[in-house]
Amino acid sequence: MKIAVFPGSFDPITSGHVDIVARALPLFDKLIIGIGVNSQKSTLFDLEQRMQWLSEVFKGQENVEIASFENLTAHFCRKVGARYLLRGLRNASDFDYEKTISQLNSIVGDNLDTVFLISRPQFSHISSTIVREIIKGGGDASPFIPSALHIPVQTYVERNGFQ
Ligand code: ADP
Repeated sequence: MKIAVFPGSFDPITSGHVDIVARALPLFDKLIIGIGVNSQKSTLFDLEQRMQWLSEVFKGQENVEIASFENLTAHFCRKVGARYLLRGLRNASDFDYEKTISQLNSIVGDNLDTVFLISRPQFSHISSTIVREIIKGGGDASPFIPSALHIPVQTYVERNGFQ
């Protein structure tokens, strides 16, 4: 069984992430979207919220699983039996960063291979960072997030006083 892990912060998940998942699904039998928990890195949305939104977006998709992990991505892959990592590339700076990480993961993960999908042009300007800035600034992030999250994110924003 071909299993891939799509690791990230997903703070929050964007339409760019969703497009990468949709395009990767035909390549694997199972895709595990794994939120990497790093205690040094603070996030706008807590882990539970990010997991809930991922579950909402991918509900009903049998070959997609949502998980979280601490410590090394390569060790998480070994634990779940994944031989592949999935990452998206938007631009040259993504590439420079990802190339090194991929080479490290290949060593630490005992030939763990990273599969890269190049962002489609209509999504290449989207990042979780931009979405967070829009939300913190009181703007409407709905053009950049999947439609299943338009209302949940709006509700969260109103409850938590970003506006
Ligand atoms: P990280 O903090 O590990 O970069 P992110 O949640 O920001 O986690 O991103 C997870 C993955 O999704 C990364 O490979 C990133 O390059 C990719 N990604 C993010 N936004 C897009 C996008 N708009 N198009 C394609 N890939 C994307």
